[in-house]
Amino acid sequence: MTIIFRSSGEILRFAFLLILMLPSIASAWGPTGHRMVASLADNQVTAKTHAELQRLLGNLGASSLADIANWADAMRSDPAQRELSRATSRLHYVNFSDSRCHYDPARICADGQCVVAAINHYAAVLGDRDAADATRADALRFLVHLVGDAHQPLHAGYRQDRGGNNHQVRVNGKGSNLHAVWDTQVLASRHLRWNEYARRLERPLIVDREMDPIEWAEQSCRITRDDGVYPQGRKIDKAYLDRMRPIAEHQIRLAAKRLADLLDRLLGQRSTKARSIT
Ligand SMILES: [Zn+2]
Repeated sequence: MTIIFRSSGEILRFAFLLILMLPSIASAWGPTGHRMVASLADNQVTAKTHAELQRLLGNLGASSLADIANWADAMRSDPAQRELSRATSRLHYVNFSDSRCHYDPARICADGQCVVAAINHYAAVLGDRDAADATRADALRFLVHLVGDAHQPLHAGYRQDRGGNNHQVRVNGKGSNLHAVWDTQVLASRHLRWNEYARRLERPLIVDREMDPIEWAEQSCRITRDDGVYPQGRKIDKAYLDRMRPIAEHQIRLAAKRLADLLDRLLGQRSTKARSIT
């Protein structure tokens, strides 16, 4: 194909389009994973939380958590959100120093620039009843997305290979990287639409104890270390995807349960005043 440019402006526009078409780095669970986490969480929150969520979602012109779950990634291709997207790009992941998977904020989350600090930040904004609804709704759409990201094991991988982005692999004869495989291919290998897939993961998940976002990330990191996430060779075959899929599905259910519990804590409590009346 030969493309003739009439001006340098055209070349720039073409280059910009090409950049938009490139698979984005560290884009997190693809749309399927994020929608599943959101929709499974939506179904687990209390009635009180649900009502409050509906009110905040109304501010965003949305009606379910799944509607807003991919906004934090999708804004990358919206020129109007370029500044915000750039300013928040490091909030989607945390890169551990090594396979000890120890969260040392000074080293790996300086200035709060990682998914762990971002979850705590947006949770505080969402839970602040004195903040404006628009601000809280904005925090909600980050939070729903980022809790999902913290459970994609390679969003809490190692700095050395940028969470698998630099770990080259081959899938179906094409070059790719391990991070991208985990963002989309592992779940896509189930060949289900997201809503049907979510329905099949709806079994209740019992967690032994509540953990905080630091532990979520450390746990994700240990999965990359212990569970064969790094394949023996460079080829990603069906056997690899079949082996990894239950791990990814468990992470989706875990993310949903933790997100629902977090939303209940932030939105589902009656105010002290209301409690003293009832
Ligand atoms: Zn993301």
